[in-house]
Amino acid sequence: MKPPPRMRRAPRATSAEKTVPPLAEGNIRIIPLGGVEEIGKNMTAIEMGNDIVVIDIGFAFPTEEMPGVDYIIPDVTYLEKNKEKVRGVVITHGHLDHTGGIPYIMGRIGNPPLYTRNLTSLFIKKRMDEFPHLPPLDMRVVENESKIKLGEITVRFFGVTHTIPDSFGIIIETPYGLIVNPGDYKLDLDGVDGKPTNEEEKRYGIFEKEKTLLLLADSTNIENPGFSVPERETHKNLEEIIKSIKGRLFIGTFASQLERMIKIVEIVEKYGRKLVIEGRSMKTNMEISQLAGLWKLKKDTVISMQDASKYPEDKVVVLATGAQGEEFAALMRMANKTHKYLRFKKGDTVLLSSSIVPGNEIAVQKLKDNIARQGAKIISYRTSDVYIHSSGHGNRGEIEWLHKKIKPKFFIPIHGSHHKLRQHEDLALELGMPEKNIIVPDNGSVIEITDKGQKIQILKEGVSNRVVMVDGLGQNNVEEVVIRDRQMLSQEGMFVIVAIVDARTGRVRKSPDIISRGFVYLKDSQELLHHARSLAKKKIEESTAAMHPINFDYVKNVIREEVGRYLFQKTHHRPIILPVLIEV
Ligand SMILES: [Zn+2]
Ligand SMILES: [Zn+2]
Repeated sequence: MKPPPRMRRAPRATSAEKTVPPLAEGNIRIIPLGGVEEIGKNMTAIEMGNDIVVIDIGFAFPTEEMPGVDYIIPDVTYLEKNKEKVRGVVITHGHLDHTGGIPYIMGRIGNPPLYTRNLTSLFIKKRMDEFPHLPPLDMRVVENESKIKLGEITVRFFGVTHTIPDSFGIIIETPYGLIVNPGDYKLDLDGVDGKPTNEEEKRYGIFEKEKTLLLLADSTNIENPGFSVPERETHKNLEEIIKSIKGRLFIGTFASQLERMIKIVEIVEKYGRKLVIEGRSMKTNMEISQLAGLWKLKKDTVISMQDASKYPEDKVVVLATGAQGEEFAALMRMANKTHKYLRFKKGDTVLLSSSIVPGNEIAVQKLKDNIARQGAKIISYRTSDVYIHSSGHGNRGEIEWLHKKIKPKFFIPIHGSHHKLRQHEDLALELGMPEKNIIVPDNGSVIEITDKGQKIQILKEGVSNRVVMVDGLGQNNVEEVVIRDRQMLSQEGMFVIVAIVDARTGRVRKSPDIISRGFVYLKDSQELLHHARSLAKKKIEESTAAMHPINFDYVKNVIREEVGRYLFQKTHHRPIILPVLIEV
């Protein structure tokens, strides 16, 4: 059984949540708890009267400054304090930046019922299997047409286009108009000239008949001008490549690009090819989407990688994870020759059907270098003149279309780092929205619609918005100091001093031993070590001279300080110093 995760909160603490005043009657409170200072850990709470509805509970991946941390989740202190008001959670779609925090957070906010569509519910269930110690979720499957009552709040849905099926947007009814959050969306476009399909026009048609009070909308691709490439276009090009390629074809994409994976299977079957699926997340997602009845695999389409060599080379397509250069993913293991069965060779083609997530550039470069070194050809998102990838998020053109279609009175940009939110604000201003009707939030901002829906404002008090880190391995809380130690160890190394001390006289028997890792190469640093040893011995004896009985903790501190100062003088590094005093 997996132990409960360790959690830690960074000290960016505001104790301000105590002072957030109670919600006045008739006002509506909106609190983005995550996702507005980053891409990831999306979560928003909406409060009216005695009820709170939560939209999405995602996680984010840690930055390089958080060694050993698995995930970052939103700080839900406010909801914990108000859990008797939390009537339900609605999840827009099955991506982890909208679902990843569920196992860690649901229990803390009172395990309210969770509403979502079928495929998303299957993804969540699968993930919960990894947490058998948690109570089961009260999960309720709804459809695009459903209308549910959470306390006094009426919630409706509408289908949206994204890279994963069963994505929907959320509509919350208020006395002053609708609150709309489409979740992650792009438009299904007819061709590349930015004309939405009739189906899409129909979906958003509801907003022409009803008044929207507030729009919360995705800012991911606000910096990309024009319209996104329709996924259909990508599918066409993938078909062209799969059809005509000579030799083996490897396709690397995100496991989250579920619609594309399904399409690839379809094409592979159409041209009588065989498919090898490599990567756990990809296999899982394929299984779940079949369970959901979204498609059906023909019996002998998928072959094991051991069997791949039994087929002519141009009959084999390998679908693999790791297009971002992830260290342990299938593509990287094949590229650096650590994969058990598959190696690249001359005549192979590798198609990287995904854009590079910012921050992964160097890893992707390495991946490509390793593949190229083995003689395989690479077709990537950047070098290809045909579209072999399209994002799941609408470009500026689509975002503009959404604003014009929904015509909200108030607007809060979400799903993006601060600069993206600001650009999204600029777009709303360009479209004629008054500045006072737009709020650019931070995680934990408390926003209120007051004066019977006439005014929107941000309260000076925010709710707790610390960075909560989850570390899946341990049992206890991961404290700030743990992360700091990990950083120090990785950057400065460690320095252990073992001394045998006579508990009665305080004298050190023999010269202390030194063990060091990641600091200096011991063999080349004899002089430094020699001095450190005699310094430690001298300081132990000095500090214990008049001490009876000996306070060993005090002595350790002295050594840490004195030896630390010496090592810094000599090396300009501050290794973690661990004095071990053995009393005899
Ligand atoms: Zn998504
Ligand atoms: Zn997202």
